[in-house]
Amino acid sequence: MGAYYDEIEIEDMAWDEAKGVYHYPCPCGDRFEITRRQLADCEDIATCPSCSLIIRVIFDPLDFEDEPDEDEDESQSDEGDSGSDENRFEDAMEKLSLTSEGD
Ligand SMILES: [Zn+2]
Repeated sequence: MGAYYDEIEIEDMAWDEAKGVYHYPCPCGDRFEITRRQLADCEDIATCPSCSLIIRVIFDPLDFEDEPDEDEDESQSDEGDSGSDENRFEDAMEKLSLTSEGD
């Protein structure tokens, strides 16, 4: 429909690592949000949860089509402790399925 409040380049948005979303300040005081997952799905509409405004995010889908493994633990891999590592892996899988359910 083209009824966007604004068009914002992804470079101008802020990355919230904790929530896994890009966000941009909304005039209502809240902020527009779009998840990295949405970007990977070629969604370019960020919405503000507090009001009905939406913005169009300008980005290159190629940058997001393949979600990299966010394996920050890799740097501190403790060798010889495979037992607890298996537990951690199952934990991560649980979180992954939880995240993908919130579609
Ligand atoms: Zn708003």
